[in-house]
Order: sequence, then structure tokens, then C-alpha cells
Amino acid sequence: MKLHFIENRWVEPAGGDSIAVIDPSDGQVFEHIARGNAVDIERAVSAARRAYDGAWSRLSAAERGRLLLKLSARLQAHQEELAQLEARDCGKPLKQARADAAAIVRYFEFYGGAADKLHGDTIPYQAGYTVLTLREPHGVTAHIVPWNYPMQIFGRCVGGALAAGNTCVVKPAEDACLSLLRVAELAAEVGLPEGVLNIVTGFGHEAGDLLVRHPDVDHVSFTGSPAIGRVVVRAAADHHTPVTLELGGKSPQIVFDDADLDALLPVAVNAIVQNAGQTCSAGSRLLVQRGIYEQVLQRLGDLFSGLRVGSAQMDLDCGPLIRHSQQERVAAFLDQARRDGIATVAQGKIAAGAPAGGFYQPPTLLRDVPPQHRLAQEEVFGPVLAAMPFDDEAHAVALANGTDYGLVASVWTRDGARQMRLARAIRSGQVFINNYGAGGGVELPFGGVKASGHGREKGFEALYGFTVLKTIAIRHD
Ligand code: ADP
Repeated sequence: MKLHFIENRWVEPAGGDSIAVIDPSDGQVFEHIARGNAVDIERAVSAARRAYDGAWSRLSAAERGRLLLKLSARLQAHQEELAQLEARDCGKPLKQARADAAAIVRYFEFYGGAADKLHGDTIPYQAGYTVLTLREPHGVTAHIVPWNYPMQIFGRCVGGALAAGNTCVVKPAEDACLSLLRVAELAAEVGLPEGVLNIVTGFGHEAGDLLVRHPDVDHVSFTGSPAIGRVVVRAAADHHTPVTLELGGKSPQIVFDDADLDALLPVAVNAIVQNAGQTCSAGSRLLVQRGIYEQVLQRLGDLFSGLRVGSAQMDLDCGPLIRHSQQERVAAFLDQARRDGIATVAQGKIAAGAPAGGFYQPPTLLRDVPPQHRLAQEEVFGPVLAAMPFDDEAHAVALANGTDYGLVASVWTRDGARQMRLARAIRSGQVFINNYGAGGGVELPFGGVKASGHGREKGFEALYGFTVLKTIAIRHD
């Protein structure tokens, strides 16, 4: 069994219980993790507090940054090992897991370099005053990490929190946390002081809930579903703990009739097939101007028909879903689409040789999905793309903004003025023009509006969220 990692040591779960870890590629149990309880959470939070009050606060920002850079280099040296762990644990095709391992290296590089560049301001004020602001860390930060991109999401939240001078307690998802335990071990090896980074594994409603409502936690970062996001905000409200929330989306790609379709088509496929569609920022809605709708569907259908699904090690276009219940959930969405007469344009295939017992779901392209239908409104978190036509710019904007979400959007057009009009009119945390996702973008602030959450992660902007601004007004007349 993998144990908790607290104060740079492996720690037995106080309750002695474990949780089975299942390989999504074949449905078999291959490991166990510790099931955290109140004693484990208490131990981790008090360790993080001691570190915050002690060794971590005594380091300068430059020294903190140097440690994060050392961690980045160490992660790079172990990149393939981490990718293999992540691939098995999450069921990701190896190429995706390798991209995720490269991303965590980059996060610690970025935030290591940023640590000593974060500072406050001086503010011109009345005569006889000097006013300045300090950006101080929150203190002990909690991080609830989901199973879809453990390394990437850990990198963006823990990297930023540590750079800003906080200490961390991380509760990874019960479905996938092995890579993060290894990352924490590597962090200890490069000299991160005891208690600065602690990991308690366990269930969300147990360890996760106890962590976010702990009175000595000063900030919570949560990435996960809107339903649990609401639960977390309520729990954190007990102690007025600030929460950064990233809750997913129903992100549209808007394709005008002057778009470069050769550029669009592979991007549109990747945006929904990457990580089997289990991506907060998946491009799950395709809005196409009516004049080119049939042409786009035909060409996209050809690409979907060629997609192959298999195990992480087979490293095909698409891997399995994370667990059986997720597979059932996606299948239920597709059943409902069939019952409601929504036509399937094309589906990929499960490859011969994919292990029996894996949670495989062929990528599916649906057409003419009514804008108010569940398939056009709700996050499926599977490889299902909902296409629908639009008539003009106003119609496109209304459709794009017509869900509860607002995380990411993209606009495909060669018309520069239209690019800018759409970028401003769409209610969303990120808008991409003639691309989708900008290749990940560690440097690019990321987060949502509406049900997609609030606060920003990634980029320099995230560092502001991991600090509290203090204003100091000095009267000296
Ligand atoms: P999904 O439905 O995709 O599994 P969740 O939102 O349920 O996503 O889970 C995201 C993360 O939130 C996981 O680490 C999970 O353990 C954790 N979690 C689930 N329930 C709670 C809760 N009540 N309090 C804190 N964390 C939770």
C-alpha cells in the first residue's frame, strides 16, 4: 500500500484502511492507497503550519524559487517514470502522459523563476503619506486535485502556492494519485523543508471534506465538478476560507464560413478526444456556420471514423475512461441522444487487442444537437462532440454564451474585426482565435466565469490568488 506523505516521510494511515487503485485500461486492481481520516488530516495541516511558521518563512523568495527550480530539474530527470505511472493510473495514452510530465516540469520551472518577481506597489496618496502594498502568502493552503490531469493540476496549484510562500496539503483524487506521491518524494529529495508539501490520500467526502473545513487552512484550491465545487465552498465558508474554483465547461468552437478548415479539423478532433474527453477545457461543442456545416461534418466524420481507442500502453488516439461509473455515465448520455433522435455522424472504434475489462468508449460525433438539450448544456466528460449550425455572428454568440459554463472558447475566422468582436462578446475565461488551447500554456491565466468557477490559475496571475494584499499607509508629515 502507498502511504501518506507528511513532513517528508511515509506515514501509515491512522485508521489502517486502504482504497484499491484500478487500472482503467483493464479494470484490474494493481495497487492500494491509504484512506485518510481526521487524524491524518490533522497531522498534515499541523505539519504545514509548523513549516509555514518555521523554515519556509525564513527563506527568501529567491531561495524558495531556487528550490522549485531544483525540483523542476529533478522531475525532468524522472519524466519517463512519472509518465508511465500517470498513464497506468489514469488510463492515458502514453503520449498524453508524457505531455503531462513535461508540463509539471515546466510549471515548477515557471513558478521557480517567478518566486522573486512577485511584489507589491507604492501608491501615490495625500501629502505626508507613503502607501505601499505587500503581497503576503495566505499561510497553509489546501489543494483538492482531480483524477483527469493529476500532475498538471498539481503543478499549477502547488507550484504557484509554494512560489508565493505558502505551505501545502494536497488531497489528490482517490482514482489517481500515484504520480503525485512520487513527486512529493522527489521534492523531499531536493531539499524542500519538512512539512512544506504534504499529501494525504483518501476519499473526497472524508479526507477532502475534513481538509477544506479545517480551521487552520487559509486557502483552498479546488478543481473538479460543479456539484462538488458547491459543497467545497459551503464547507470552506465555516471558517471564511477563500476558495479558488475550477469546475469545467461546455466549451464551444465557433467556425465561420471563411475559416481555414485544414487547420481546424485536426484541432477540433484533438480538443474532444484528448484524455478521452475528460478535460475541463474539452472543446465539446462545435458551432458551424450553416453554409459550410455539411462539409465540416463530412470531413470531421471521416476523421472520427478513423479514431482508435485502446489501453494506455497501446498509445492510440484515445484511452479508456477513468472508471466504470464514468463509462456508464457517458453511455447514458448517448442513449438519451438516440432516444431523442439526435443523429450520430460517426464513431471511432475500440481497437482489437484492447484488454477486456477496460473502460473504453468510442469517440462520437453528434449532429444538430438542439441548443437546450443536455448534450449541448451539460459536461459529458467523455469523447462526445455536439455539433450544431448557426446563421450569423449574433446567433453564434448567443449559442456560445447559452450554457451555464464559461471556461474556454475558440473562434475560427480570417476576418480580423470579427475575431475581436467575438473575443469580447464571449463570456469565458479564455478565448482562442484560430487555435484551441494554445498548446497548454503554463504561462496563460486560466479559469472560468459562471458555473466554470472563479479565480485564476496558471501564469503569473495565479500568484496573486495565492497571496493576500496588505496595504500599509505611513504618515510622516
Ligand atoms: P469527479 O466527479 O470528476 O470525480 P469530483 O468533483 O467528484 O470530480 O472530484 C474532484 C476532487 O474532489 C477529488 O479529489 C475528490 O476526492 C474531491 N472531493 C469529492 N468530494 C469532496 C468533498 N465533499 N470535499 C472535498 N473534496 C471532495
